[in-house]
Amino acid sequence: MLVKKEGGWKLNDLPFVKKENDFINTYFLEGHEQSANAIDNHVNKIVSLYKDKFDWQPESLNIKLFNSNKELAATIPFGSDKIASWNEYREALKVVDGYEEAFTHYFLQHEITHQFLSHLTNDNCLVWFQEGFANYFSEAINKNAQGQYELDIRISHEASQEMIDRINDEKYPTITTIINAKNKDAYGYLLIDYLIQMHSLDKFVDMILKNYPYIDKRMEHKSEDLNTLLLETLEKHYVSLETLSKEYSNYHK
Ligand SMILES: [Zn+2]
Repeated sequence: MLVKKEGGWKLNDLPFVKKENDFINTYFLEGHEQSANAIDNHVNKIVSLYKDKFDWQPESLNIKLFNSNKELAATIPFGSDKIASWNEYREALKVVDGYEEAFTHYFLQHEITHQFLSHLTNDNCLVWFQEGFANYFSEAINKNAQGQYELDIRISHEASQEMIDRINDEKYPTITTIINAKNKDAYGYLLIDYLIQMHSLDKFVDMILKNYPYIDKRMEHKSEDLNTLLLETLEKHYVSLETLSKEYSNYHK
């Protein structure tokens, strides 16, 4: 990234301190060790959940903790300096340490969910489906009364009402046209809720774990290919897209 030094701008990274714990590397800046420890602990528990449920075993997981939104924004290709967290395939997860701990941890569990889905699918998951997935599963991560983490999809199912409120009586797009919808992330969530609640979590997991070769392009340059792949996979795994389109919208009425 670009940093300002005497005499001009330099291409450099921030002076991160690295903390290693098994396969998790947390990079933080001076004075943020306590947050880094809490984050490391949080990440470890989430990975354990995904390991149990989806057999995910990342070789390594890198997390960079920034002091401000501006510093984070300087390292990513799009977006404003209001962004609090970011995930990009094969890069470190990025999060700002400037919010209440509960928020920082929530952002992180969302981004970890993205990263884990990217790993399992070779980055072959279309953005609106990914966003639906990241929102659905990060919502399900729950700390129980004993302080243990659990994945409870009933919570995600209950939260689907928020998505229904967000689309606000809009006519549901067919699955083939979600890609062009304004609230595509919300439809991603609602489609996933329908698939899991009506056809089982195991069947859903079986679908997303199918491996396809990696396409060496940035996400925004492979959307059309990935849309075709997703539609074909859904149809092969469930029923026709026409039937699925009717069913997921009826389910939420
Ligand atoms: Zn996201």
